[in-house]
Amino acid sequence: MVDLEKLERICGAPGISSFEQEIGRILEEEYRELGLICQKDGLGSVIAVKCGDRPGPKMMIAAHMDEVGFMVEAIDENGFLKLRPVGSWWSHLVLGQWYTVVTRDNGRYPALMGSMATHGLPAEIRNKTVSMEDVYLDLGVENREEVLALGIAVGDMVVPWTHFEVMQNRKYVSCKAFDDRIGNYIMLEAAKRLRDAAHTPLYLANTVQEEPGLRGARTAVEWSHPDIAFAIDTTLAGDTPANQNICSLGKGVVLSMIDSNSIAPRKLVRYVEGICEKHQIAHQYAVFNKGGTDSGNIHKAFDGVLNMTLSIPIRYMHTNHSMIHTDDVEACIRLVCELVKDMSGEIFERLL
Ligand SMILES: [Zn+2]
Repeated sequence: MVDLEKLERICGAPGISSFEQEIGRILEEEYRELGLICQKDGLGSVIAVKCGDRPGPKMMIAAHMDEVGFMVEAIDENGFLKLRPVGSWWSHLVLGQWYTVVTRDNGRYPALMGSMATHGLPAEIRNKTVSMEDVYLDLGVENREEVLALGIAVGDMVVPWTHFEVMQNRKYVSCKAFDDRIGNYIMLEAAKRLRDAAHTPLYLANTVQEEPGLRGARTAVEWSHPDIAFAIDTTLAGDTPANQNICSLGKGVVLSMIDSNSIAPRKLVRYVEGICEKHQIAHQYAVFNKGGTDSGNIHKAFDGVLNMTLSIPIRYMHTNHSMIHTDDVEACIRLVCELVKDMSGEIFERLL
């Protein structure tokens, strides 16, 4: 069973790339309750080590803590905010949505992404996408001074605002930031289920700054120096009229074969498939030439790290309201637990 209350808390924390302190603190607190102390690398990734002194290959699991959002770029004289996207956004999807501006003193202010009125819109404007350069955030103030008085400044973080919604079929849930807070949740839940198990050394890395280019993974892999590593992330589901591909919500954990910056080694894919089959864990596949995960920087570390990505299919990725299926989350947690329990020096040698 997915703990929806915990998931809501994890997704709710504001945290674009380089602003991951609050979500990091929440995760540290959760790991502490499981008896695990987290450590941080120099960029701020939060890493929990379990069974660090035991024999066996070191296994790293990585999921990024940052969410997509914006940074305040300028405040105009009428009090409207110009924004710089952090992570990829499609301007089509931001107009008319709610956002939260978070100040350096943790002040939080709701604001609307302004848009043109539909009335009298010429066809050439109606039929094209607004440039991100023309997008602005409206706090509902009279002028720049009122914005400054709130403590809002250039460089502040702007995050999507949404509510956590359990859908009509209660296995479907919608919220912001499932990319990739669902990965943080899965690692936490796996650590909980493995609490009393003795297994290969495990490094659970909650990484920073994935969205602008997998930066946290580069340092977290140095810190952990694993022999084998899995990234857990979300992958685009193609089961709606808007997106079509081979991944669907509710069909299981996704074994990602290829994306824009990593290809899963065949022997490792076969091994993970075998674990899924042995434990009757629902699984499906993704074969993409776009997108990327922390794996992109993990597999190239040192003289090469055996690595692949396990994904949760997601609808409406990089929007204010993404959607996932709890059966896929449960399948991924079970797979992670079985992979950790199964790993040994002998198995690792066979995978090389
Ligand atoms: Zn993403």
